[in-house]
Amino acid sequence: MKVRYITHLSKLDGLTEEERRRLEPVADRYVFRLNDYYCNLINWDDPDDPLRRLVVPLESELNDWGELDASHEADYTPVRGCQHKYSDTALLLVNEVCGAYCRYCFRKRLFMNDNDDATLDYAPGLAYIAEHEEITNVLLTGGDPLIMSARRLGAIMSDVAAVPHVRIIRIGTKMTAFNPYRVLDDPDLLEMVKEFCESGTRIYFMNHFDHPRELTPEAREAVKLLRQAGGMTVNQCPIVRGVNDNWQTFASLFRELSFVGCPQYYVFQGRPTAGNEPYEVPIVEGMHIFLEANRHVSGLAKRARFSMSHRTGKIEIFGVDERYIYMRYHRAHRKEDYGQMVVALRDDKAYWLDQLTVVSGPQSAIESAAGYEPYHW
Ligand code: SF4
Repeated sequence: MKVRYITHLSKLDGLTEEERRRLEPVADRYVFRLNDYYCNLINWDDPDDPLRRLVVPLESELNDWGELDASHEADYTPVRGCQHKYSDTALLLVNEVCGAYCRYCFRKRLFMNDNDDATLDYAPGLAYIAEHEEITNVLLTGGDPLIMSARRLGAIMSDVAAVPHVRIIRIGTKMTAFNPYRVLDDPDLLEMVKEFCESGTRIYFMNHFDHPRELTPEAREAVKLLRQAGGMTVNQCPIVRGVNDNWQTFASLFRELSFVGCPQYYVFQGRPTAGNEPYEVPIVEGMHIFLEANRHVSGLAKRARFSMSHRTGKIEIFGVDERYIYMRYHRAHRKEDYGQMVVALRDDKAYWLDQLTVVSGPQSAIESAAGYEPYHW
């Protein structure tokens, strides 16, 4: 099916003239993009429809809040287009376009005109990966790699797979949610995935479903085809205000994903990214949503970790009591931080580690508010 892209609010029939006029300045600042497949999933009679909220701008995005690179990805970018924060995993930002744009995106800086973090020339990143034998996993991301043709994506994957120490290629994608026809209508893509899998390179599709209503029959079929081609499929998403900020939605999402064979891998605490204030959910509230959702699903449906992708590492948030929030470094840039517990005074309004008072934990967590110097290559 031919999916038509909508790149201007004036082409969005679901909005009134007045709404379009008010939202134009927001779309000028943080780019808007949608397509008619996803547009048809939205209940336009409901101004608070969660899928509408996921893609249609809000005026409050213009509030002065957060920073464009909230996880300081620039600090972990040894060469243009390549990030290396955790020893075994590198990221190649191979594309700066997605099937639609999530309003809460933490990489929205990529879609701005003057940004060059993503690059079509992945040669420097590839050379960096080849020089670093500790890198066994490469995540192709951006933007969405599945926007690219099977030929272009296949060429990048071939080059990455030719590096002997790379055993896993991950493809971060929301195309199965935004436009599953990208998979359904491209036998070349599926054939290419099959060939890679048969040749011994493990391919993981890191899907991005935020809400159970995105799991349409077409989306389920797309996930199934990727799996049948030999790919592994998992899901990751943040908790987003107005989209999935209640345990019932998450329980349903976890459950359905387990039925589809695409289990939840991470649930993310929203990063304090510029433009994202209306989408943020405080840490303590997010923890309660996550725990309650887990209480209502089977063991296979609750394997995810609730994590904060902080500049010092991936910090799992696993408990809250009346006085404290309990966390642990699940991944850490500084090896000595890995596995370390972080205990902070409970603050029900805090969104991010930097707003908390850490009472025990490694120095990087304690000093996070004061500024953190990553190691350099
Ligand atoms: S699919 Fe991912 S990269 Fe693209 S807009 Fe959404 S969150 Fe951002």
